[in-house]
Amino acid sequence: MVIYIPALHREGVLVLLSSGFTKCPGLFYATPAQDGILSRIRIPGGILTSQQCRAIAEIAQQYGGGYIDVTNRANLQVREIHQGIDAEVLQRLQALGLGCSNTTVDQIRNIMTSPTAGIDPQELIDTRPLVTAWDNYITANTQLSGLSAKFSVCFDGGGIVSVSDRINDIVFAAVLVENQVYFRLGLSIGAKGKPAQDTGIIVTPEQCLPVLVALAEVYLAHIQPSTKYKLRLRELLNNIGWENYLQQVQQRLDFSLSTREIEISIEKTAINYHHIGIHPQRQPNLYYFGVVLPLGRLETMQILGLAELAEKYGSGTVRLTPWQNLLLTDIPQIAIADVQREIEALGLDCAVSNINAALVSCSGKKGCAASATDTKGDALTLAEYLKNHIALDSPVNIHFSGCNKSCAQHHQSDITLLGVSIEEENQTVEGYRVYVCVDDKEQKFGREYQFVTVAKLPALIEEILLVYKTQRLNLNETFREFARRYDVSQWSMETIETR
Ligand code: SF4
Repeated sequence: MVIYIPALHREGVLVLLSSGFTKCPGLFYATPAQDGILSRIRIPGGILTSQQCRAIAEIAQQYGGGYIDVTNRANLQVREIHQGIDAEVLQRLQALGLGCSNTTVDQIRNIMTSPTAGIDPQELIDTRPLVTAWDNYITANTQLSGLSAKFSVCFDGGGIVSVSDRINDIVFAAVLVENQVYFRLGLSIGAKGKPAQDTGIIVTPEQCLPVLVALAEVYLAHIQPSTKYKLRLRELLNNIGWENYLQQVQQRLDFSLSTREIEISIEKTAINYHHIGIHPQRQPNLYYFGVVLPLGRLETMQILGLAELAEKYGSGTVRLTPWQNLLLTDIPQIAIADVQREIEALGLDCAVSNINAALVSCSGKKGCAASATDTKGDALTLAEYLKNHIALDSPVNIHFSGCNKSCAQHHQSDITLLGVSIEEENQTVEGYRVYVCVDDKEQKFGREYQFVTVAKLPALIEEILLVYKTQRLNLNETFREFARRYDVSQWSMETIETR
């Protein structure tokens, strides 16, 4: 199915853009979904100005469902669009720096970085200039439209809020080597859905862009840029071998890629959600607020309210996170209580104990034909149930996916819920396959429940969380650490029928 968005007039040229070119939506590549047309707006590094927030709120209100969704790449999605967006509106968005000014590369994956870049008290380097440099390069080089739309890049500055374990094709993760900041190069190798693996190569900050350019050029040299289906970088690396690929990258560089063995921490889960709450910045007397967005959703009134708060108290920007939450930054200490009160008045909060802080869902049945269940609806029901039955004091991430394609990036979550439906007495019964910390370095140490009906799911999750809460060694033991040492056979669920 080909959906055209309105003709866009640029320099007197009529440009027709269509979702028929790609499976990945962009601002200029609207894509049909179950609930209408979906438009995704790339937000490099996830940083939005208050002006941009207002423009997006207007679009969501006028053309979409009156809300926006923050994605797990810190993009924004406007859903339920049922009429074309005027060309002038799209041009206005471009003028505000939204969407790519070069429409041919607009569908390429958003560039990810830590949402606390430049304000994180422990970061080794502010990665925002690297995000801008790669974004500018993409924009200026139309031949990169031949890249897979899923060609994904991430810069991690080595701070408290790490993004290096997010799913990306290419990861530059800052490390300190003999008092100098370098970036470790990670590549997506091996099985689908695994974080990028360390190649052992370290590069200086100045070398990141040339290395990225060479990585993209080698990719383009191996594929047919005009074909509709393009291999993922991971598939190409698996096909030709990543060492071979890197040799070809090396041939395009005027410096040598050097290697260094560095010990890497893999336990990031608890730290990832450290952004929720109120935290001091590296700048004296300034704080950032990590605001919980239920399943990444913001009503237009909430976006407008947050934009106003950012202008009134902060530096006029909000930052989206890959955990589908949001940061308000640069808040003076003296304004903390006022900002907290105003956030609550918008129907939002900054509590780590809020189950929504680490609850993620793909769009589910209402937005995606592949889904077996109404993931978003079931996730909200679960959140409401847990809110009334158990108080958490640290985040446990729970991911709902409607099928095993993992749009909600469930592979690393503490509890994964995979939508399935079965036929029983001529009726379709919806439920979930439940994985509790099952997938960690491909070793199974958790527990699987083959099928739990939607109705019985909340009680099962409550029991699992209760066991963790009452049997953990101390408050610092994460859910994953607990699951690793706990005898899972005791994690029985007598009251729940599972098949
Ligand atoms: S995980 Fe499956 S059901 Fe969910 S949005 Fe992705 S493709 Fe659709």
